[in-house]
Amino acid sequence: MEIIINAPLDMHLHLRDEAMLSTVGPLSSQSFAGAIIMPNLVPPVSTKEELVAYKNRIQEVCKDDTFTPYMTLFFKPSYTKEFLESIKDELTAIKLYPAGITTNSEGGVAGFDVDELRPTLNAMAELNIPLCVHGETNGFVMDREAEFISIYEMLATNFPKLTIIMEHITTKESVEALNKFDNLYATITLHHLLITLDDVAGGMLQPHLFCKPIAKRPEDREALRKVALEGHPKVMFGSDSAPHPQHAKEACGCAAGVFTAPIALQVLTELFVTHSNIQNLQKFISDNAQNIYKNLNVAQKTVTLEEKPFVVPQKYNEVVPMYAGETLRYSIIQIEG
Ligand SMILES: [Zn+2]
Repeated sequence: MEIIINAPLDMHLHLRDEAMLSTVGPLSSQSFAGAIIMPNLVPPVSTKEELVAYKNRIQEVCKDDTFTPYMTLFFKPSYTKEFLESIKDELTAIKLYPAGITTNSEGGVAGFDVDELRPTLNAMAELNIPLCVHGETNGFVMDREAEFISIYEMLATNFPKLTIIMEHITTKESVEALNKFDNLYATITLHHLLITLDDVAGGMLQPHLFCKPIAKRPEDREALRKVALEGHPKVMFGSDSAPHPQHAKEACGCAAGVFTAPIALQVLTELFVTHSNIQNLQKFISDNAQNIYKNLNVAQKTVTLEEKPFVVPQKYNEVVPMYAGETLRYSIIQIEG
């Protein structure tokens, strides 16, 4: 049986820069029609010049494919409405990181003072610029996301016209919050639909499954699977595919991030087929995102998969993908567009 996906979108992607961008960019642009590109470079993308230059570098390495990089800025409470108006046509969203919580987020938001955030967030709401949030506190690692729910509630109630996207949710508490506020949405990664903390650290430590937010408990994974598999209109696929060179993962002081871009469509297809929900994959992988973001201008692209073994490469240059060396059940057999 062939599975056809129209215009797959990755609504949370790290493409990095320079040599790493050259390695991983084409691995996403080949099979995806577009992706929300995270801005946590060093220094983070926070000016129009940096954003346009980064977009050009991405388009250069992805030029053989039909692929739209949807650009984001690194949130700063100093962004004025005039500045946002001047850059509006170049960007799709703004990403907020709490200070120091993940890779290259040192310049993020330290306190969540609603009055300090108000001018920028009101301007974003008026200009229809969504706010993407890495929702973790500095608390105990398993509780960081649940502790952040109160900040999501503060944002959702104070800025009811702002589209707020809870990025890479990993807990049942976040799934519950989705249904409490009209303006809260979420992305879910591939790996958080598949693994729990047991897979990361229950036996021998698996550095290639170590990520932030850390994978949680089986009941959290169940809650995520439920909304993804039912094609819940407020959730979208965002891989959070986050490459690091092998030496930075297999190290004392392992970098956080799972590299899933080249296997995402194959594994999602298997997951949705296995759970008899393949009819909902299109919603999760593209349609919901187009409804939530409204003006994505998605390119025509069709990806066809078939039940046929795909052996995952051990490495893509210096990057080890999830399931390296293992055999997946589905393969991409055709890409049109
Ligand atoms: Zn991320």
